[in-house]
Amino acid sequence: MSIKYYDIVPKNEGTAGADDFRRALIKAGFEPADKAGFRWRSSSSDGNLDVYLMAFREPCLFFSNTRTLKVACPFCRTPISLADWHRAVSDWRAGGGAFTTPCCGKKAGVRQLIYDPPVYFARTALSVCTRGDSGPPSGLLARISRAVGRPLGFVERLC
Ligand SMILES: [Zn+2]
Repeated sequence: MSIKYYDIVPKNEGTAGADDFRRALIKAGFEPADKAGFRWRSSSSDGNLDVYLMAFREPCLFFSNTRTLKVACPFCRTPISLADWHRAVSDWRAGGGAFTTPCCGKKAGVRQLIYDPPVYFARTALSVCTRGDSGPPSGLLARISRAVGRPLGFVERLC
């Protein structure tokens, strides 16, 4: 088993921010390992885990691998090329409006497109390094999800 990095993100962030995640980490038995509260440590049956809290001013996209990502139109499910998707994402990052789907010419926000595997949009994420091949330990996900009161998703970070 190799070391892998995962980003854990709320599936629907709502108004939750970095402070909510700090409170959730404390509730989940983590201790701050730096003064700024970005690095946290927990000893549990999952072993010693370090998690890093990442907070951004604007929502970021979290996805594993664009080469295998499939994007589709939310109206007719026609695949959207990655080139079109990249253009839609740059427009969205630049504060542009909705993306016009090439297949049906309807407007859709980048968050509304169909993604396989899922793409998450969040201002707050937890980064964890583990030896698991199939994702962060499920116990860890359950603890943090309960504490923050939101379902969580994760993506593998390809460095
Ligand atoms: Zn369409």
